[in-house]
Amino acid sequence: MKIAFTWDYELFFGEKSGTVQQCMIQPTKDLLDIAERHQAKFTFFPDAGYLLHAKKQEDASTDLKMVVEQIKAWDRMGHETGLHIHPHWEDVVYENKEWKHNTSRYKLSDFKEADVDSIIHRYFQEVQQLISSPINSFRAGGWCVQPFSNLRAAFLSLGISTDSSVFYGGKNTNAPYNYDFTNAPNSSSWSFDKDILIENNNGNFLELPITSLRYSPLFFWRLFLLGRWNPIRHKPIGNGVPTSGGGSKKVLLSRYNTFCLSADGYFISQLEHAVKQAKKEKKRHLVVIGHPKACTLYSLEKLDLFMSKHKDEIEFVSLNQLK
Ligand SMILES: [Zn+2]
Repeated sequence: MKIAFTWDYELFFGEKSGTVQQCMIQPTKDLLDIAERHQAKFTFFPDAGYLLHAKKQEDASTDLKMVVEQIKAWDRMGHETGLHIHPHWEDVVYENKEWKHNTSRYKLSDFKEADVDSIIHRYFQEVQQLISSPINSFRAGGWCVQPFSNLRAAFLSLGISTDSSVFYGGKNTNAPYNYDFTNAPNSSSWSFDKDILIENNNGNFLELPITSLRYSPLFFWRLFLLGRWNPIRHKPIGNGVPTSGGGSKKVLLSRYNTFCLSADGYFISQLEHAVKQAKKEKKRHLVVIGHPKACTLYSLEKLDLFMSKHKDEIEFVSLNQLK
């Protein structure tokens, strides 16, 4: 079996963006150490909007330099870099060394067609110039990849052929999010063309969906309680505040929910269960999403242990190596 760990490398987009050091540099350094120990290859999705906008602020230059160096470092180590777009950077304000995010235009579908094309091209170039191999994987900011027809022409011209934004059964239509994957194929990969949820063997694109998982209310009770009982181990290393709209506590604590298989914080505790389930269903691979900003001491330790335990039966690969 193969597992692709994919990391969205970014600040927070809520009330407080957090520091580059704690949300990006420090946890990613830990992840790269873990990868090296286990000869694993990861896929990183650096937030291209950050790179573009930090360049315009002199006060952000020290941070930007660290980020650029880290991207180049993982590229030299052979990890894959994909394109990750949070277009709300177009509306960001920088004040007193803090990013003030306005998420009223959060997703590409909130922008005019001509703007979408320009954003994709500019964001792509910003990342591509830092790395040695051509970018061909994409992950939409906040999973908001629909409608894919808006992105299609730009992707064809840039050579982006793989998407990894969908997760089977996922749905969130609370602003600023808007995605609905309830009709996605329940499959570990499919070809598509204009509609990302419709399998099309003659399509130009490949979907490598993030593995999806059902989470019980009990899981979230544990998650919230552990954060209170043992914040040192369970508090995210990143020091910002997430975008609102991710789902209310009441809903999480009262019924089953479908989310991604995730390496973030306590979510990583479900990895063993997901592997068992995948073996039973004879799945050849899993795609796990994670965010350096949401890593905890607990999750980093678990990841390291998981990789040691499964080193003989699981290959830890980049998205490109799943094709
Ligand atoms: Zn993101």
